[in-house]
Amino acid sequence: MQMQCPICESQETRRFAAIRGIEIHRCRHCEHGFALFSQHYEEPKIQEMYSLEFSGYRNDPYYQNAIREEIRTNILPLVTPPARVLDIGCGNGEFLLAAQEAGYTVLGYDVSQAALTICESRGLPVQGGDLMQVSSAGSFDIITLWNVIIYLSEPRRTLQQAYHLLRPVGLLVLRTSILNRREMRVVRVCPRLAFPILQIPSQLHFFSESSLEQLLGRCGFQQVQRLPSRRLHSQPRRTSLKRRLKGQCLRTIRAYARADVMHIACQKPAHH
Ligand SMILES: [Zn+2]
Repeated sequence: MQMQCPICESQETRRFAAIRGIEIHRCRHCEHGFALFSQHYEEPKIQEMYSLEFSGYRNDPYYQNAIREEIRTNILPLVTPPARVLDIGCGNGEFLLAAQEAGYTVLGYDVSQAALTICESRGLPVQGGDLMQVSSAGSFDIITLWNVIIYLSEPRRTLQQAYHLLRPVGLLVLRTSILNRREMRVVRVCPRLAFPILQIPSQLHFFSESSLEQLLGRCGFQQVQRLPSRRLHSQPRRTSLKRRLKGQCLRTIRAYARADVMHIACQKPAHH
């Protein structure tokens, strides 16, 4: 059955993988990939998935340094402190903390109660619930989404809300992985690898450069510019021998099917 592409709305989509009740479809038009859950598959519960087990919440010194470097090289030249920053999907608040240190006025938003609790314990201002309620329209100078849009059920809606919350000429800074041919090849050869390689069932969207640019354009953003990107997370640490062997094997496959990254800044126009 053909499904409508959630980004460009084309009907020209095809299924390229099916694994244990999860199907991944890809749009022929904008090359966007998206996961669909069969009725037999229980959709993962957000609060359970983004609990303390979630990799984004662990203490990762590599990430802490990388995010500071990110602020120095990519954020400070674009917007000077004490600009108001909203971080959507703030996780354990590492970026909020670093942005605050750099002099920005920060607010974090997350759907995960575990994330909000960690941020509050670190004294960081955060909110959950309805994104539209975090502040009034046009109240942020910059909104960031670090490796977040692939996990959203409705990325378009979230970016429309971000647009609403940004002031005119405010910036959206976004970083995401891009699905490439190497990953698709690996998943075709061994569909089970879709779990570690494509991070299903948590990852719901598999952007292409084209689908990401379409999405930003459709939400009203302009002047899309590519920012230099570097690796943000260190490899997860494994403990037991079995886990380490499994980890080594996965790393070899991941090194081949490494995801491409797109790191982008774009602007809400002055008049809209
Ligand atoms: Zn499409």
